Amino acid sequence: MRRPIIAGNWKMYKNVNEAVELTNEIKRAVFNVNNVDIVIAPPFVNLSEVGDMLLETNIRLSAQNCYWEQEGAFTGEISVPMLKSVGCQYVIIGHSERRKYFGETDCTVNKKVAAVIENELIPIMCVGETLEEREAEKTLEVVKTQVTEGLAGFDEAYLKTLVIAYEPVWAIGTGKTATPGQAQEVHAVIRNLIKDLYSENLSSEIRILYGGSVNPGNIENLMNETDIDGGLIGGASLKSEGFIDIIKKTSNLCTKKGIEE
Ligand code: PEP
Repeated sequence: MRRPIIAGNWKMYKNVNEAVELTNEIKRAVFNVNNVDIVIAPPFVNLSEVGDMLLETNIRLSAQNCYWEQEGAFTGEISVPMLKSVGCQYVIIGHSERRKYFGETDCTVNKKVAAVIENELIPIMCVGETLEEREAEKTLEVVKTQVTEGLAGFDEAYLKTLVIAYEPVWAIGTGKTATPGQAQEVHAVIRNLIKDLYSENLSSEIRILYGGSVNPGNIENLMNETDIDGGLIGGASLKSEGFIDIIKKTSNLCTKKGIEE
């Protein structure tokens, strides 16, 4: 079992006071969890404040997006060095909401992943099919294309820290979770693709998260699948109890499987 990641995507929720409160609650409850990588991704405006609160804790800070240039006349955009300067260690790239509402493509995802890695942060690259694509039995083709194009041009040394999140679009924010079997099938295909594109070594080390209506009631079954290495959690990360429960259940599972530290 690879060391799991539980990442909370707060999307466009939480003003600064609410972000501080939620961060405090999570910090207090999970300070002694040491076998799971815990990540939270607040909105941009809260990153600096929350980043300060996470110094010397076991919780890592993520942004939800970035621009690929280092700096310049790009009104409204945020660069990776800026994210780094407020303490971000991760950046979510290519979330389906960004693809759907903000015109992200595999090409922009590719440029952003490059910018994140060049600045020594960790990209969480999201892929996943729509309901229509699943019903047309195109899931595997769509996901393979997204991974291949998202990573086009990178050599293996570049991708040591890369995290991939498989998030079926029909399961995000809908309360419909992919069954563990459905998720495992796609995770295994992604892992195999990484082996074909790169190596056995990278494919066995890369962490692939599942996202799509993960909650405290389904996390254990998902985490029991061989190729699922954690969760990218939206709705259930907005209230401390649910997110903490997901982290603790994942941690207990790791302890059972002998993963410590
Ligand atoms: C997400 O935002 O990445 C997500 C998976 O959302 P939810 O858990 O609400 O489906």
